[in-house]
Amino acid sequence: MKKLLCLALALMMALTLFGCRAETAATEAPAEETPAEAPAEAPAEEEAPAEEAAAETPNVDAIKEAGKLVMLTNAGFAPYEFLGPDNNIVGVDVEIAGAIAAELGVELEVVDMDFDAIIFALQSGKGDLGVAGMTNTPERAETVDFSINYVDTNQMIIVPEGSDITGPEGLAGKTIGVQMGTTGDLFVTDNIEGANVQRYKTGPDAGAELAAGKLDAVVIDAGPAAQIAGANAGLMVLETPATPEPEQYAIAIAKGEEDLKAVVDSVLEKLIADGQVQAWIDEYNEISSQESAA
Ligand code: GLN
Repeated sequence: MKKLLCLALALMMALTLFGCRAETAATEAPAEETPAEAPAEAPAEEEAPAEEAAAETPNVDAIKEAGKLVMLTNAGFAPYEFLGPDNNIVGVDVEIAGAIAAELGVELEVVDMDFDAIIFALQSGKGDLGVAGMTNTPERAETVDFSINYVDTNQMIIVPEGSDITGPEGLAGKTIGVQMGTTGDLFVTDNIEGANVQRYKTGPDAGAELAAGKLDAVVIDAGPAAQIAGANAGLMVLETPATPEPEQYAIAIAKGEEDLKAVVDSVLEKLIADGQVQAWIDEYNEISSQESAA
């Protein structure tokens, strides 16, 4: 008898539980249906364009709100970015970013990092612009947007005076220093047969190793190549570029930040047309040479 009672109780409990669950499901269902019952709400659609209009320049607005423009760079690339006489980061790119910050009415903050970390940092929102003598390449343009180009340059070859390397064809089979993740690195790695490629964090690091006799050559952009050769006795830049085609510098911007790109492009256009970019290149070449002579 007790057994039967137990069974009956268990059955009742099971029924109650089931009932409850069924009820819960029943009360949840209409709640879920509610949003679906109002398809294409008319007022919501009318509001949408107004919201878009308010956020026409979301990235520029965010920078103004923050009161600063954050430039990501690698400060070992004179005359574009390097440690100046007062140990702060100066150079052509710092001036350009400063002009963009002024146009936006905000301060400029310069963040120094490894060159090959800049694009990822930009993508993950650690800064607003990558301004680093960065070559505008189709591969990079898949991950970031580029401003208009602002400098035309070439990859050059630095060698010790009296080297048997007199042009790009002499690089085959040699020990060649490059800056990690740069177009010089890619060129030597992909095109020079039998090259022993040594990768450094900065061009000057590679230059010091070349001067110390540990490398046969360094391949790097023309601007820093001249500075590195000038700073190290016994080094020279070969006349013939390493690469047949010139390359162009542009400012990297996170994908889709059209409003910011428009400001960057308009400032660059003016600076190029005024001859100001070239004037800064001359000025900072001079400052960097004096520094290494001191
Ligand atoms: N122009 C080269 C590149 O974009 C090197 C840039 C740099 O080292 N700052 O890869």
